[in-house]
Amino acid sequence: MSKLYASMGKRIFDLVFATLFSLLLFPMVGISLLIPGVRLLSKQRLGFGAKPFNEFRLRCPLDGFGHTLERISFHRLPALWNILLGQMSFIGPRALRDGEIRPEECCHIRFSVSPGFISPWWVRVRSNMTFDAEFTIDAQYVQKIGIKQDVGILFRAALTSVYGKEETTEYTKTLSLLGVTMDNTTTADAIAFMDQRIREKTRTRVSFVNADSLNKAFTDAAFCEVVNSSDLVLGDGIGIKIGAKLTKQSIKENVNGTDLFPRLCEHMSEQNQKLYLLGAKDGIPERVRDWIEKTHPGVNVVGVRNGFFQASENDAVCEQIRNAEADILLVAQGAPRQETWIRDNMDALGVPVAIGVGGLFDFYSGQTARAPIWMREAGIEWMFRLLQEPRRMFKRYIIGNVVFIVRILSQFGTCPHE
Ligand code: UDP
Repeated sequence: MSKLYASMGKRIFDLVFATLFSLLLFPMVGISLLIPGVRLLSKQRLGFGAKPFNEFRLRCPLDGFGHTLERISFHRLPALWNILLGQMSFIGPRALRDGEIRPEECCHIRFSVSPGFISPWWVRVRSNMTFDAEFTIDAQYVQKIGIKQDVGILFRAALTSVYGKEETTEYTKTLSLLGVTMDNTTTADAIAFMDQRIREKTRTRVSFVNADSLNKAFTDAAFCEVVNSSDLVLGDGIGIKIGAKLTKQSIKENVNGTDLFPRLCEHMSEQNQKLYLLGAKDGIPERVRDWIEKTHPGVNVVGVRNGFFQASENDAVCEQIRNAEADILLVAQGAPRQETWIRDNMDALGVPVAIGVGGLFDFYSGQTARAPIWMREAGIEWMFRLLQEPRRMFKRYIIGNVVFIVRILSQFGTCPHE
């Protein structure tokens, strides 16, 4: 099926979509050429089999108007003609410039298909989900080639153009929403920061926040303070993206706990670091330990404990953790309990890095299924969660997200606890 699609179906897909879009958009391209400063040009790119071809595009004036045309990718529309000519596909790896690829990579699998007008990597960048290198994503694309994948990418490209990341190279160091200040960082930089703190043996509290926890912080000044006083605050999920977009802030990457965790394990495995898992129901952290031992054997899991204990047991729990001498402690008790608990017990715990991770253990123990990647890329993981636990999640997502957006719009630029 996928071979048939690669050899014939894909071309039909390209012709149908390129013809449709050309009929719709070429008149606008023609009109734009009447605007002073707009010109049609072609640039040499590497096509199928790394053979050069000329990709058409528009040169736009260097003013606000030209910038807007480029921001909405209007300047790339003439490349629809390259698709009709068979030099490009609608979906495929980005067309590279000559010299952008090293000679030893010339036979890379990405050249076994035509370059695309929309690339899978671009969609990931726009949906703030770029963890792998571009060529890795291209290779995965070619391996899984099929109509389902192409339609999915097209669908996600449309979605990300609505709420996706702004293309910018200038990011502020922090992002601010509803009185909470988050670090504008990437997964890789967050892990590097934690690693540095382990080496320096500096006590470090890491908090993840999503729309739900920002709603909690909005009505709970004490929780807001706990989060803001953390050493690293990471914004997680579509709510943060929409909130940032509404307040005109650019997010570098969606650094969520579930995607960070395997990368953190990979890093800890290389460094032979020690991890303690505290939280969730009895038996769950043990299953997470099994998963870590199987997939990242270099990580030393020095202790596990469920997250349900009485206040009278608190000192014993802290002592148990302290004696285990972990480098990183993960606390999965849900917000605001876990962040507050970490803050209150940080000295007694003696760990360099403690992270509040919410429902993470439930995912990695296999207790709760995670949404497929296409849903995560499209920013609709919450729909999957809603279907899994309709009652609890209705309040959190349907009501919570609306309340969150209303609050963002009405609180723009102010701190609720000032
Ligand atoms: N939990 C816990 N102790 C408690 C309350 C909750 O360990 O006293 C666990 C619970 O079993 C679940 C996690 O905390 O594994 C919270 O999950 P939830 O989905 O509510 O967290 P979120 O990701 O939304 O913060």
